[in-house]
Amino acid sequence: MSTHETRCELSSSFDCPEKDGVRAVQRITSRSAEIGGGISVSRLLPSRHRRMVGAWCFLDHAGPAVFKSGDGLRVGPHPHIGLQTFTWMIEGEVLHRDSLGNVQVIRPGQVNLMTAGHGIAHTEESLPGEGHLHAVQLWIALPAAERDRAPAFEHHAELPRWQAEGFSFTLLAGRFGQHEAPVKTFSPLLGIDLATLDAASTRLDLDPAFEYCVLPLIGQWQVNGESFAENELAYLGRGLESLELSAPAGARGILLGGVPFTEEIFLWWNFVGHSKAEIADAQRDWEEGSARFGEVAGFDGRRLVVPALPWRVS
Ligand code: MN
Repeated sequence: MSTHETRCELSSSFDCPEKDGVRAVQRITSRSAEIGGGISVSRLLPSRHRRMVGAWCFLDHAGPAVFKSGDGLRVGPHPHIGLQTFTWMIEGEVLHRDSLGNVQVIRPGQVNLMTAGHGIAHTEESLPGEGHLHAVQLWIALPAAERDRAPAFEHHAELPRWQAEGFSFTLLAGRFGQHEAPVKTFSPLLGIDLATLDAASTRLDLDPAFEYCVLPLIGQWQVNGESFAENELAYLGRGLESLELSAPAGARGILLGGVPFTEEIFLWWNFVGHSKAEIADAQRDWEEGSARFGEVAGFDGRRLVVPALPWRVS
């Protein structure tokens, strides 16, 4: 997926403030954004109050949406650099095509992971006849040492799943207990999808070196005793050894974590750069149709136009 935002801000990580010696949970509200096809999403990261959680630097919750067949998601060819796009499909089917020649339908319970590295272009569209979309789109910033790596694409049809204390867990990224996700990442990260049939409560072991966040996708959740509505992100800083979660019947949510990303990055449009020059180079290369990003074959529609850089270029 793609963002049309033109804001450019530095990311930074900071710990949650402590209140009376108790680490407070930071509450981040979503803002509404549009992605291709007029699909409206709730955007949680980056936000004014929090740029990243570990290397997770972008978080959109799309849907649950119902649309007329033929409407749906439709994002034309656009480039990425310096990041991995991570798509977690909950409902609906979306076709991915990229400039490496990958053509892949992603279905509920599956992950598409595209490592942009030095540069890639892709498209995403709802399948003909599809009338639903419920997905989470995340970006993972690549560390400077990996930012220029060759682009790559992985599709994961099967992920580790288990049940405990009334929750169904799916491991999206990283390790949890004896489980390990097959998703290739380049910094210590965790991603877990949680679902309930009936109301449930659990206590999860955390890694004190990680910072975490919980996003209720469906239902009102309790996160360490505080109530969070759908699309309200609960951010938890480092140093916690466990987390208490309660969710109602039929709930859905995600837990994300990672070692705080200490490198300064710029996130602008569909690019993550470690300098403004990297972003400017990518912008110029896309405008000029450089071979850097290649061509996406088979998509009936125009390339997205990169907006002007948000800073003065001498
Ligand atoms: Mn994209």
